[in-house]
Amino acid sequence: MNKLDTALVTAALKEAGFGLTESVKEADVVLINTCSVREHAEQRVLSHLGHLKHIKKSRPDLVVGVIGCMAQRLGDRLLEDNTVDIVCGPAQLPELTQLVTKALQERKKSPAVTEKIRQRTAEEHSQALEEFESVYGIENRQIPGQAFVRAMRGCNNFCTYCVVPYVRGREVSRPPEAIVEQIRKLAHHGIKQVTLLGQRVNAYKYKHSDTVWSLADLLGAASDVEGIEWLRFVTSYPSEEFFDEILQVMAASPKVCNYLHMPAQNGSDKILRAMNRHYSSGWYLELLDRARAAVPDIAIAGDFIIGFPGETDEDFEATVQLAKHARYKNAFIFKYSPRPGTTADNRLQDTVPAEVKQRRNTELLAVQEEISDELSRAFLGKEVKVLVEGLSKKSQVNMEAGRNPQLVGRTAGDWIVVFNGPESLAGRFTEVRISNSSPFTLFGELT
Ligand code: SAM
Ligand code: SF4
Repeated sequence: MNKLDTALVTAALKEAGFGLTESVKEADVVLINTCSVREHAEQRVLSHLGHLKHIKKSRPDLVVGVIGCMAQRLGDRLLEDNTVDIVCGPAQLPELTQLVTKALQERKKSPAVTEKIRQRTAEEHSQALEEFESVYGIENRQIPGQAFVRAMRGCNNFCTYCVVPYVRGREVSRPPEAIVEQIRKLAHHGIKQVTLLGQRVNAYKYKHSDTVWSLADLLGAASDVEGIEWLRFVTSYPSEEFFDEILQVMAASPKVCNYLHMPAQNGSDKILRAMNRHYSSGWYLELLDRARAAVPDIAIAGDFIIGFPGETDEDFEATVQLAKHARYKNAFIFKYSPRPGTTADNRLQDTVPAEVKQRRNTELLAVQEEISDELSRAFLGKEVKVLVEGLSKKSQVNMEAGRNPQLVGRTAGDWIVVFNGPESLAGRFTEVRISNSSPFTLFGELT
């Protein structure tokens, strides 16, 4: 979501005549797009700001902006420090070019954020965002051949630990015709894979007089766009609504990747209730069974939060059991991070000590690694279709030795594949025979 926002903002600023530089030394304006999901992400921003404060001592004309979720969460407070000139929340991004121009010319500070974000993002903001998205959404091509397209903004779920509904506002599904038109334009620009984004993307729902568009309908319409070969969607929330329809489209359409990212977050029913997730671990596992029955080769990924307030060893064991049964291809494991303003932070003490969180994290990761290792070994000797992203981090080594560089790509099931090949393959599909594997990466040769 943040990568997409960065791409939209970059495109808007470029159109207004600004040039992009990677170096702070060269920059007249530094914008930091921020995440508030965990405290660690915010601390990194604060440390960047500390660095910029230092630079500003010798270059007082440098304009510094904090944009995105942290800007919405902290608003005015970010301006108290003289370092920051611009504070712009996610709903105000269409105004950013104007804010930057003003800051450069007038040196005026005022935060652009939504006052009552829990109620609803103001109608005029929604329209401005829709326009912004439609105009600049075709410029987001950070990975060759791939693009993100927002299907929904915001979230209504209010999981007790989560800051998203407080910084991104209430759930809004974008009009399907705008989304499909955007995908058509992206295809025209050579995009082959589109990832539809939403915090609960499977809850996508758009009412057109007497018909309702679901994510299944959207995927169906997007599949008809010529040039688009792979479609993905993240993140799914474990819910009955539209679940079977979405799986049916996945099973029927060769373009919809057989991949589902549907986090359980925890395996203890007591903790799931305290998190305001509306399901039990048993029901969640049944949902995975249904997905595997409908789409036999489906790759499923998840997220876990460990160390939520009140989590006992027994609760944690339930999470380990869930991971063993879920058999995810991979799972992101996060230590609970109290977020100011959320229900969990208001009502519950962060009782699980840091070292216990660390121990549980390591233990769960080891369980997941064993499962991922088994699943990745099943690819040995097989040929897989890969959409090539570009050079791998180690590409330089081969290039220096005069060989083809190391490339990285992904399969339809989101497995990372590393192999040697010409850089010109970036953004294109190729076939790779898998000869080696590690828990989270497949290695092979071009066939
Ligand atoms: N909407 C998605 C969902 O519900 O699955 C995920 C959104 S959240 C931005 C991404 C992940 O961050 C979540 O799946 C959760 O595991 C993690 N997360 C969110 N809030 C957290 C917190 N307070 N502490 C630790 N991890 C958190
Ligand atoms: Fe946060 Fe829950 Fe919404 Fe996901 S579904 S964004 S975890 S409130």
